Amino acid sequence: MVQKKMDKPLTLGVDIGGTKVNVGLVDAAGRLLFVHKSLIHATKEPEMLIADIVAGVEVCLSKTGQEAKALGIGVAAQVDLKGVVRGSPNLGWRNVPLKKKLEKQLGLPVVVTNDVRAATWGEWRYGSGRGVDDLAVLFVGTGVGGGVISGGKVLSGCTNSGGELGHITIISDGRKCRCPNKGCLEAYVGGWAIAERAQEAIRTLSNEGRRLLSLAGSIKQVTAVTVSQAYREGDLLARLLVEETGRYLAAGVVSIVNAFNPCLVVLGGGVIEGIPELIQMVKDITRNRALEAAVEKLEIVKAALGGDAGVIGAAALAQDLVDKAP
Ligand SMILES: [Zn+2]
Repeated sequence: MVQKKMDKPLTLGVDIGGTKVNVGLVDAAGRLLFVHKSLIHATKEPEMLIADIVAGVEVCLSKTGQEAKALGIGVAAQVDLKGVVRGSPNLGWRNVPLKKKLEKQLGLPVVVTNDVRAATWGEWRYGSGRGVDDLAVLFVGTGVGGGVISGGKVLSGCTNSGGELGHITIISDGRKCRCPNKGCLEAYVGGWAIAERAQEAIRTLSNEGRRLLSLAGSIKQVTAVTVSQAYREGDLLARLLVEETGRYLAAGVVSIVNAFNPCLVVLGGGVIEGIPELIQMVKDITRNRALEAAVEKLEIVKAALGGDAGVIGAAALAQDLVDKAP
């Protein structure tokens, strides 16, 4: 009985991307007990997506025979503090009161946040950032996002959009970003930007670009994955592109380290998974170029949770909600 009383409740985590919705049941130690994955309906209507989430929750609970106390959601969108999705270019949503609608349908407390913020929570609570009060998490995937935890608190900013680390400027008037700015970190090291840089390099250096081109089939089909494949084979142009990516990424990390003085920088996302050598490049450059006091105790490590960080982090946020409940 004593053991039973000490058991913390299970919570649900939901990760909504541009095309998929993953629902998972997670225990208080951050272990994913069951995950249900589905594709988002082509029309991306909020009501249909909510029905998919509710169905996913039912599958998770019935398959495990468990109950959950709360649900957390990370969605690829700008979300306000009341759990309203203000805008999502990926989903085409504006002002969808996701928290309110789901609480009504599930009868559970719900917390809604941005997908990258949720993944940052996952790495902080249960991944590489566990137990650290001052850290920055940077996910380098197709886009680049992350979060900053300072003094044991996630920096959320004035309008809850803090931590957009992919959109710090590394080159004034540089490459056009997908945001209104030019020269953002994402515009150089995001998967889409690596693909663009590789395609431009092949056009300029057609001889050196032959291997990349033959791997992809055509210039337009050259992606960050192609670069990673050719890099593994020792291709010279791919190596130059990767080394350049390392320098750009390090420029961003140096700024983050100087600005926030974290003890730990966690690097994750598809680009890092595909080219983990980037971590060592970033370490070497950051060590030499960030302020001495800022790197004194700094460690730079790889993220631990992979693609599950979003679900686990959203569930961790829900756990936090349960813990704070009266
Ligand atoms: Zn940007």
